[in-house]
Amino acid sequence: MIDFDCPKCGGALSVPESLGGYTESCPQCGQVNRVPKPPSAVNNERMLEFSSQQVHLLKDIRGEIRWITIWIKLSVAVVGVVVGALILLAIFTWTAR
Ligand SMILES: [Zn+2]
Repeated sequence: MIDFDCPKCGGALSVPESLGGYTESCPQCGQVNRVPKPPSAVNNERMLEFSSQQVHLLKDIRGEIRWITIWIKLSVAVVGVVVGALILLAIFTWTAR
């Protein structure tokens, strides 16, 4: 149960947790009040928000890692070509003597 005070008449209200976040009229004065969410629901929402942020962060990191691997592959290819060319050059200059 969620216990809260009616903001109009100050009467103590007690409603089932399933009504958290919904509106409920006060039995004493008829004021329609928004039932506060139970703490567990608020925590769950925070956890959800947190995990979605984590997922977002993870996606960002994955994207960056993808770019880093592309750059590493590119640089390895470039270095390989340069080293290969140097070896070929060395062989040619060696055999040309
Ligand atoms: Zn009331």
